[in-house]
Amino acid sequence: MKKHNFSAGPSILPQEVFQKASEAILNFNDSGLSLLEISHRSKDFVAVMDEARAIVKRLMNLGDDYEVLYLQGGASLQFLMVPYNLLSVDGKAAYTNTGTWAAGAIKEAKMIGNVDVVATSKEANYSYIPKEFKVGSEYDYFHCTSNNTIFGTQMKEFPKVDTLLVCDMSSDIFSRELDFSQFDLIYAGAQKNMGPAGATLVVVKKSILGKTGRTIPTYLDYAVHIDKESMSNTPPVFAVYASYLTLKHLEDNGGIAAAEARNNAKAKLLYDEIDSNPNFQGVSAIEDRSFMNVTFTLTDESKQEAFDAAWKAAGISGLNGHRSVGGYRASIYNAMPIESVQVLVDVMKSI
Ligand SMILES: *Cc1c(COP(=O)(O)O)cnc(C)c1O
Repeated sequence: MKKHNFSAGPSILPQEVFQKASEAILNFNDSGLSLLEISHRSKDFVAVMDEARAIVKRLMNLGDDYEVLYLQGGASLQFLMVPYNLLSVDGKAAYTNTGTWAAGAIKEAKMIGNVDVVATSKEANYSYIPKEFKVGSEYDYFHCTSNNTIFGTQMKEFPKVDTLLVCDMSSDIFSRELDFSQFDLIYAGAQKNMGPAGATLVVVKKSILGKTGRTIPTYLDYAVHIDKESMSNTPPVFAVYASYLTLKHLEDNGGIAAAEARNNAKAKLLYDEIDSNPNFQGVSAIEDRSFMNVTFTLTDESKQEAFDAAWKAAGISGLNGHRSVGGYRASIYNAMPIESVQVLVDVMKSI
């Protein structure tokens, strides 16, 4: 039986993507060869890479001043690549600390240069998004995390800053319409909302590069990857192909606008149950609630055994909260059908 998979990442993808990706492993484009055994420089794979990059620009409505890259190393390597490429030798960067991943980004940036944490919600176990801060032109860039996967908070608006705007969108990329042109650099590990683990998306405005006065190691240099069209070394061909299929599926099903409408309906269904059912309570500030990772707890711990047994029996998997928060976390990424959310809500009503 196919499970209702609420895992935070790697996570659910459209069933059709699993199907097509499996076919390509056995026989890619009717070539008689597996996707896994052909050269990444073959005509068929170069076409995949080109289209995977083009589709991102179409979905985000971005022009030729932006470049799209598929790299490796996950969002975690971007924690390092961003300061290497944007933080000048004697400059400083501004960061908000809104969760475990933001803290990880800050830690890496501090290895490269000067970092100011301009706002944090750490004192409240990251249960809200801090909003009262200013970032001036004395900073080389400002870095934020759009969705805090572990704690279940999400930035609903992005601050106007007098410097470059950089965002880790790993866990809510392509989930809602945004003016993507307000960002100078966006990155995301693919495995939350746009593909399998192994590929990392970077969208960068070309004109911001080459200004730090640093010597950048080859793999860490965005300019190298731009120049080589994401083929500076062997790309993760399977992960890029499955990401391409995922984004194509999104585009063919109404694009980001339609995904956002579905995501809003799913989030409303689940949060309404959390708010109206006396057995449950939300974890994060209501105005900052994530529409991707819904965190909640039981009001009465003695019901835990019954609830855990009930959701497992209903075919639900991946509902346990992260160890730093406890309770439960339902990740309802783009590919999660509302029917599966309804199954969870029915279980919540039943205990
Ligand atoms: C999962 C996650 C990461 C880490 O991604 P990796 O690809 O595993 O390095 C970073 N930031 C956010 C917001 C995440 O959700």
